[in-house]
Amino acid sequence: MLSDREAEDIERGRRAKVGGPILLKWVDQLLADRRERVQQIEYLRRRLTQAFRYLDGLVRDLHRGPNDRRPAAPAAPPVCPACRQPFVQARGTSPNGIAYLHADGRECRSPERER
Ligand SMILES: [Zn+2]
Repeated sequence: MLSDREAEDIERGRRAKVGGPILLKWVDQLLADRRERVQQIEYLRRRLTQAFRYLDGLVRDLHRGPNDRRPAAPAAPPVCPACRQPFVQARGTSPNGIAYLHADGRECRSPERER
């Protein structure tokens, strides 16, 4: 993903009417940046769907009341897209996407660094 600094360089270059091969390189960078952002949004949508199912399940438990309470199926913990293991915390990183912290202290990043 483009860093803020790279984006500023492109803006500065455009104001200075830079063209030619540099311009094409910028187009490629911006398209790659777009692909990464679309991936992040898709991932976020999946997580929101998981969160919705979890919260919906909690509300359903409340409606059922204590007399007909069945043990709810445990919600599957969210997994890291890099290593497919559960993670305890996710945070956004610039410019490389999302970092996933595992209970054992490992940290994965998604999307994987492309350099
Ligand atoms: Zn991981």
